[in-house]
Amino acid sequence: MRVPFADLKAQYLTHKNEIDSAIFNVIEDGSFIGGKYVDQFEQEFGKAYGVKNVVSCANGTDSLYIIMKMLGIGPGDEVITVSNSWISSSETITQTGAKVRFVDIDPDYFTMDETSIASSITKETKAILVVHLYGQMCNMNAIKEICDKHKLYLIEDCAQSHFSSLGNTRAGLFGIAASFSFYPGKNLGAYGDAGCIISNDDDFALKCRKYSKHGALKKHFHEIEGINSRMDGIQASILLAKLPYILDWTSKRIQVAEWYNDYLGDIPQIIIPKKRENTLHSYHLYVIKAENRTQLMSHLKALEIDTLIHYPTPLPFMEAYGYLKHQIKDFPNLATTRDHILSLPIFPEMTQDMVKFVADSIRAFYHAN
Ligand SMILES: *Cc1c(COP(=O)(O)O)cnc(C)c1O
Repeated sequence: MRVPFADLKAQYLTHKNEIDSAIFNVIEDGSFIGGKYVDQFEQEFGKAYGVKNVVSCANGTDSLYIIMKMLGIGPGDEVITVSNSWISSSETITQTGAKVRFVDIDPDYFTMDETSIASSITKETKAILVVHLYGQMCNMNAIKEICDKHKLYLIEDCAQSHFSSLGNTRAGLFGIAASFSFYPGKNLGAYGDAGCIISNDDDFALKCRKYSKHGALKKHFHEIEGINSRMDGIQASILLAKLPYILDWTSKRIQVAEWYNDYLGDIPQIIIPKKRENTLHSYHLYVIKAENRTQLMSHLKALEIDTLIHYPTPLPFMEAYGYLKHQIKDFPNLATTRDHILSLPIFPEMTQDMVKFVADSIRAFYHAN
């Protein structure tokens, strides 16, 4: 049985009519950039998410950059972020002119290790940028306390955590502002690049809006110089068509994760992902820790089961950050984790039979090896 890592086509075929007409409407109306579908998406996403302001952007990298830039972060400042993420989380810090400070991960939850933050705070530190990686919430109570104590901005990268929550608070609503990506493969995905900023601070949201649209809230009235980070009408319209289903898709991801937990829980060479207490994990990714990972991956590949590693090289060890001269001993938890993390296929349309096949194939591998 072929098991793809994700299946965007299955989702499209289920909602083909709605998505096709969403695209067609934009073309008919000529609302290609900004316009009524983008305005409507901002309103609907804000309503669904429970946040006052949504500022649409061209992608989920710009949105991080804009947040930091509008907080006044720049040369001479430092921003703390996590050592295992997609490069957007750190490259946007550098883009503002500030310096990146990487901290270790928590070996059980894979998110920023809150106990490693304190030693990275200097008098230049302006903000902590957390990433709710794989859909797992960071320890926000502890991190918020650190931010309050040291008067640091708290910024959330929610590119992998649409509708995740801790207690009654959704990802993205703990700090001044948060960033979302709607890259096609994310839990809520467009058919191209798209992203947004959310904030309950009206003034801050307006500032971000202005900057992202060439410094103008009204066409041709440029109060400042900004950047061009607009959402396409077609992307907004597709997102509007998909938005009503996101909670259902999230429940289905959780169901897939629970099947995996049941089938894999007793394999001694596997550690199933631990979910932080009192949270909703949106399972953008289902990441196990596996012994003999490389061989396991090729065994699964031969059976047409796709797996991936998020991420094969942690950020501090990318060539781009060679100048920081990090050594693996700077990140002891990352050191014990990075060679074992393995992302198994997960998507809302995944069937119990598929999950069982993946799990049985993993079990068979360890029986034989
Ligand atoms: C996908 C992703 C981004 C960037 O989103 P784009 O829309 O591709 O720019 C940022 N941070 C994390 C953690 C991501 O996974």
